[in-house]
Amino acid sequence: MSDKMSFQADVSKMLDIVVNSLYSEKQIFLRELISNASDACDKLKYLALTNPGLVKDAGNMKIKITPDEKANTLTISDDGIGMNKEDLINHLGTIAKSGTADFVKNASENGSACDLIGQFGVGFYSAFMVADKVEIITRRAGEDQAWKWVSDGMEGFEISEAKRESNGTDIKLFLKKDEKQYTDTIYLRQIIRTYSDHIGYPIVLDLGKAGEETVNSASALWTRHKSEISKDQYKEFYHHISHNFDDPWMTLHFKAEGNIEYTGLLYIPSSAPYDLFQPDRKNGLKLYVNKVFISDKVEELIPNYLRFVKGVIDSSDLPLNISREMLQHSALIEKIKHGTVSRILKELKKRTKDYDDYMKFWKNFGIVLKEGIYEDFSNREEIAALSYFNSTKDEEKLTTLDEYISRAAEGQKAIYYITGDDVKILRNNPQLEAFKEKGIEVLLLNEPIDEFWPQVLPNYKGFAIKHVTQAENDMGWERKEARADEGSLKKLTDLMTEMFKNEVGKVTTTEKLTKSPVSLTVEDGQMSLHLERLMRNHQQQTAFASTRILELNPYHPLIIKLADMAADEAQRAKVEEIAKLLLDQAKIAEGEAVSDPSFFSEKMSEYILKSVA
Ligand code: ADP
Ligand code: MG
Repeated sequence: MSDKMSFQADVSKMLDIVVNSLYSEKQIFLRELISNASDACDKLKYLALTNPGLVKDAGNMKIKITPDEKANTLTISDDGIGMNKEDLINHLGTIAKSGTADFVKNASENGSACDLIGQFGVGFYSAFMVADKVEIITRRAGEDQAWKWVSDGMEGFEISEAKRESNGTDIKLFLKKDEKQYTDTIYLRQIIRTYSDHIGYPIVLDLGKAGEETVNSASALWTRHKSEISKDQYKEFYHHISHNFDDPWMTLHFKAEGNIEYTGLLYIPSSAPYDLFQPDRKNGLKLYVNKVFISDKVEELIPNYLRFVKGVIDSSDLPLNISREMLQHSALIEKIKHGTVSRILKELKKRTKDYDDYMKFWKNFGIVLKEGIYEDFSNREEIAALSYFNSTKDEEKLTTLDEYISRAAEGQKAIYYITGDDVKILRNNPQLEAFKEKGIEVLLLNEPIDEFWPQVLPNYKGFAIKHVTQAENDMGWERKEARADEGSLKKLTDLMTEMFKNEVGKVTTTEKLTKSPVSLTVEDGQMSLHLERLMRNHQQQTAFASTRILELNPYHPLIIKLADMAADEAQRAKVEEIAKLLLDQAKIAEGEAVSDPSFFSEKMSEYILKSVA
């Protein structure tokens, strides 16, 4: 008796793409299946730690590859954890991560699906690139019933009861007619050596009458000495562990000795994963205790702002029978984390020496690393030193805080920054006019996280970190140009304050503007306009809206004229109309929408016409 079941819709969609997209390196299916077999052995080993009944099964595990030239089949067997009926349905009929299929579809339309097969847990399905039919016989460790799963990789699969001597899984591929080369032992040996040498279990190739041959080195890569590992082996291990296909941007292999010993083999990818900002994303480190895989879900092993780091941490100082719950509050884990973080930061520091190379990393992960300035109290300054920012100094290259300081003007005591959505708009923000005039550099910060880290890093190497709105008194500004009459100016600001009382807290004058007549800002110490917009976009606003201030430039001919007009009751209507346009102008410079677009454009045409008439 057998159960016929359909693939979840997402699986069908994806299978279609995986099988039909022209994939140049089809042989990676073998790596995926061997990788799954190795995972299955890891899982059984872990289970055996707490379940003595399974210890016998967990000893001497291996992965066996059996080609059959006559039948044109290839079988990958392991004696790992195996699967029961639910496992088969849940793991080989659905896709665990939501959105995966859509992403694969998009990627394939952009021509990059091939590189992504592993990353989305579609590893197993890659078997259908070379096989018309896949038959699995499997038995879960500790259970008596074995199961058979068969599928042609089209609509669905069939499950029926089966027999298997012991726990483990055989995956038999009925190879397509033109994929006969996967029964050739010479070819198989070569593929396994290339892609799977680092697997920690023996991979045994069945040579038929000639017996069996162990093809890989079968020792966990990170336990070997650096000098014995080639660049390619490091890279293949990275592919195995990260499911990425790119070259790692950074490879960091170290052994920490001292009161706690552990080994780390860590990587930073050269491209950003699609789910870097998905809240359910798990971190990329696997924890081993003395080569036994424990968990890849130990949140505490690496801070969130380094969630792009992939790799392995192995420590023989942790108790083998440690439960995943205990790991969460372990002081040893805390120490390992601390040591690992400082090694990563040190290595990053070294890499900043080559700007172009470092930018490859920064454009992928800088925005995540910067979260660390906010999150990681003990490494705050170090992470800030590794961060790069846009600045008024240079339109092409980003700058560090240290470089900024090295260029600071005589007597300058602060690092100034402004925040907004778009660097181009920020560059022209009226608030920067006085800074430009005095040759003082301003950092142009345009990412949401930039609203937060300066709040926890008020100083850097003796320099205050200040938003430009907090700089009014720093400028030591002595201006000699004509200024609007004080009395008329007061009338104008009073009038405008009354007019705009629903939109801005007050209208004042400023010494900071040189070119623009007006500018919008907030009361010192309040949430910036950029942050306010961010919050509004996330529907979190209203309760703490900042008090906006409309600043007038008393040296600007337009303001001088308007102040004069404000003193004359007869011109009231005209003054009000121009005042409204000025507020709109300030909003536009800040990157905000005008309050009444039709009024604005009507008046705009009217004034343009006057100027050309
Ligand atoms: P991933 O390995 O990223 O989870 P795969 O598509 O390669 O995704 O495999 C899907 C799931 O199928 C695995 O997570 C595992 O639960 C199960 N599986 C695949 N191969 C085996 C195997 N040889 N033994 C036990 N379980 C397996
Ligand atoms: Mg897999």
